Amino acid sequence: MASIRELHYQLINKERTAVEIAEEALARIQALEPHVKSFLTITADQALQQAQQVDAKIAAGEEIEMLAGIPIGIKDNMCTRGIRTTCGSRILENFVPPYESTVTQRLFEAGAVMVGKTNMDEFAMGSSTESSAYQVTANPWDVSRVPGGSSGGSAAAVAAEECVVALGSDTGGSIRQPASLCGVVGMKPTYGLVSRYGLVAYASSLDQIGPFGRSVEDTAILLGAIAGHDPKDATSLSVPVPDYLSAFKPDFKPRGKLRIGIIKETFGDGLEATVEAAVTKAVEQLQELGAEIQVISCPQFRYGLPTYYIIAPSEASANLARYDGVKFGYRIEEPDNLLDMYAKTRAEGFGAEVKRRIMIGTYALSAGYYDAYYLKAQKVRTLIKQDFEKAFQQVDVLICPTAPTTAFKAGEKTDDPLSMYLSDLMTIPVNLAGLPAISLPCGFDEQGLPIGMQLIGNVLREDLLLNVAYAYEQATSWNKRKPSLPTA
Ligand code: GLN
Repeated sequence: MASIRELHYQLINKERTAVEIAEEALARIQALEPHVKSFLTITADQALQQAQQVDAKIAAGEEIEMLAGIPIGIKDNMCTRGIRTTCGSRILENFVPPYESTVTQRLFEAGAVMVGKTNMDEFAMGSSTESSAYQVTANPWDVSRVPGGSSGGSAAAVAAEECVVALGSDTGGSIRQPASLCGVVGMKPTYGLVSRYGLVAYASSLDQIGPFGRSVEDTAILLGAIAGHDPKDATSLSVPVPDYLSAFKPDFKPRGKLRIGIIKETFGDGLEATVEAAVTKAVEQLQELGAEIQVISCPQFRYGLPTYYIIAPSEASANLARYDGVKFGYRIEEPDNLLDMYAKTRAEGFGAEVKRRIMIGTYALSAGYYDAYYLKAQKVRTLIKQDFEKAFQQVDVLICPTAPTTAFKAGEKTDDPLSMYLSDLMTIPVNLAGLPAISLPCGFDEQGLPIGMQLIGNVLREDLLLNVAYAYEQATSWNKRKPSLPTA
């Protein structure tokens, strides 16, 4: 599939209709889904209807937005009115939201064409999309491997070109890590830049919705369309949204110093040698583009993972209390009494990973352990934040690998939650600090699997991150390589 800009010009020059573009995406979905399994629900009728509306606008001589007529995938934890939203869980198997999330509302107003709801780890808990209650999504680069997670369906759909762009959500790395494993661009915005209204809550102080694209430009266009204040989300920031594209420049030389800091602690133990080599090479290329490179120490970085695995499950245990068989979704048949109904509904409706998190969270928040775990974790969270604040006094952007490894085999880590948790070692601290970060392709390993690097910015510096990513992408073009899929 072409880029947003190319499709936009095809539409306004009347070379193609939005219906034809939607049909192309739906045909790819039909051909590839048996192999990739990115989508939980395919919304062909709705897509064609939305495309017809765009065509009608063009025929009437009206102006259309960049995203008008662009096929897009939406992670299945964002509420879509009238369209089943499962969050990858049995407990929401038949949940049809009566309202629209702010992000999808904005996209539909811009004329975007939703082709389907994408697969995900149950309640966004996971790093491989294998904890989905429905299906296992394959990595388009090697279908025996995972796409990463939890937004693995969105990442795989974009990599397989089943849609042009997609939305994911990122609580500890769920956009960036699958973007890295699938060889696409993925961005987690500053906490509060994108409204969470209508996003099924996992850990509310960490959750952020963000874009996936095959290029930095596509990613930036999608971010621009969903970002901005929303009175329906109390944590939404009231700040103007810049035009991200207008800042794009091919290098940094004309603008004086751009200081990039390599996070020392992310290199070493547990990092695959090919990943380290690719990111090191990328740093050299950024230097050639005019960046000044320093090594930065973030000593608290390594406490990110244990801190996250107290805070995220604690918030999840509170957020998931609403799935009791009464208010939403699934309920067991013929319970003996009310308590029996709660217990059995939850026992059947939730998968193993979700239950594990609810138990950890409930334990960490319980009266006797609150101070030792939850309160302590919040203090460490502050220290991690301060590490970043110090770092950003010295540099403008931080760089590190996105994930310690390339895509692993399906089933390889499902019995070992700790090794699965390690996938997010480098992404989690960013969520704890509420900062923006982008993952973009920076090479391939010897098996042809994509490698991603992560650029981290200070609060609301999405513009700078996108610009650095754009300049790097222009100089390297890793995104020109495509997976060879069975029927494509
Ligand atoms: N893998 C992490 C977890 O399981 C992060 C998930 C996410 O960002 N939603 O919690």
